[in-house]
Amino acid sequence: MYLYNSVSHKKELFVPNHPDIVKMYTCGPTVYHYAHIGNLRSYIMEDVLEKALRYLGYNVKRVMNITDVGHLASDADTGEDKMVKGAKRENKSVMDIAKFYTDAFFADCAKLNIKTPDVVEPATNCIDEYIHMVTTLIEKDFAYLAGGNVYFDTSKLEKYYVFNDHKEEDLEVGVREGVEEDANKRNKNDFVLWFTKSKFEDQALKWDSPWGVGYPGWHIECSCISMKHLGEDMDIHCGGIDNAFPHHTNEIAQSEAFLGHKWCNYWFHVHHLNTEGGKMSKSKGEFLTVSLLEQKGYDPLVYRLFCLQSHYRRNLVFSWENLENAKVTYDKLIAKIATLEEGGEVEQEAFAALKQRFETALNGDLNTSLAVTAVYDVLKAKCNDATKRAALADFDSVLGLDLLEAAKRFRDAQPKDEVDPEIDALVAARTAAKKEKNWAEADRIRDELKARGIEIIDTPQGTKWKRV
Ligand code: AMP
Ligand code: ZN
Repeated sequence: MYLYNSVSHKKELFVPNHPDIVKMYTCGPTVYHYAHIGNLRSYIMEDVLEKALRYLGYNVKRVMNITDVGHLASDADTGEDKMVKGAKRENKSVMDIAKFYTDAFFADCAKLNIKTPDVVEPATNCIDEYIHMVTTLIEKDFAYLAGGNVYFDTSKLEKYYVFNDHKEEDLEVGVREGVEEDANKRNKNDFVLWFTKSKFEDQALKWDSPWGVGYPGWHIECSCISMKHLGEDMDIHCGGIDNAFPHHTNEIAQSEAFLGHKWCNYWFHVHHLNTEGGKMSKSKGEFLTVSLLEQKGYDPLVYRLFCLQSHYRRNLVFSWENLENAKVTYDKLIAKIATLEEGGEVEQEAFAALKQRFETALNGDLNTSLAVTAVYDVLKAKCNDATKRAALADFDSVLGLDLLEAAKRFRDAQPKDEVDPEIDALVAARTAAKKEKNWAEADRIRDELKARGIEIIDTPQGTKWKRV
């Protein structure tokens, strides 16, 4: 498989560090609010990556954190903890907010057929691990105490900006509106490993530490949680592209300073979903959620298909019109699959040829739009229905579109082909009346049928009827 690596800016042949396992890590959600569909784009594409690796024969162990402490309003370690903000907004405790939105996140994931990673660990579970890593970083002189907080000293590294070759001043973490710069930092991009002092003294959760009672910075959780479950190295680290800097840059800085060797080989970044008006953000208040899609009558899997139709390294613009197009595509696809007959023998050679095309799409930097095209290739292929159904089931283990299940539901919802010459004659008379634009007669027949307990369904294949 070839995968684009954000560190080298190239597509590289994927070679795992260990023959028996692919170690994969995903930055999880900050659970102070619902996930927006932009966040979920990242989780859909990461889910496809995991499933593609399994499909291609790898054994995968995937770990994800849940950020329930330390992610401040600004990624530059200033401002209020997002969790505290969420708790105030809803007049609940931080732990209640964390539980509620963690559950809501996994409920959304389930609707989108996103598999839960093998290990999910909340940040508040691993305080001892953070204290150990920060202690070691201080001992190794990569970290310093200032104004009550522990900071990572980015000037101690040979190369801090691993993802970009831009000018350093362009990349300095912006100090946003309403947030003051931290005067304790020796270098502008130094980041907090452990807080004991903050302008916001109402931090809800605090723990004892060698540096005083406080709480961890945002970045340390991903380094420690991944090492706890994956050991001292990993193959693929995933996240949305906004996480590359500063979050992932800081993860690499502290992890490699701590370990004294390279930590992660491949960095997989999903580009953003934007609205026509620009960036999608949870902190802005009103935002697009899976529930909103459902309220508007969209199956969440239509959104999954919408995401799969674009490459993960391209920005994607969401609009209701674009989603409607995906719905039309999905409905047509399912109606077509519903025409495939069940039963019969799979033609192995034809199956292998179809599978080959699908694998080629995945192998080419997870080309999901080509993988969706491979589904159409199946429907057009010159082989029997059993082979087509087998290929679709096989592909769907990666695509997660419920292709056969939705087709079955579609078929079950169709009227049964019952034979009743009298009713058939009335239906035919109504069709004839409609053709002559005799709407009154057509409606009269419909009403007559209704009175007899017959419902008429107009379909692209003609008018059908069923007893209700
Ligand atoms: P958060 O809950 O803010 O920690 O973000 C969860 C994940 O969503 C991270 O991997 C982010 O990089 C990613 N993300 C945030 N905004 C977007 C977006 N508009 N499109 C795609 N991914 C996003
Ligand atoms: Zn992370």
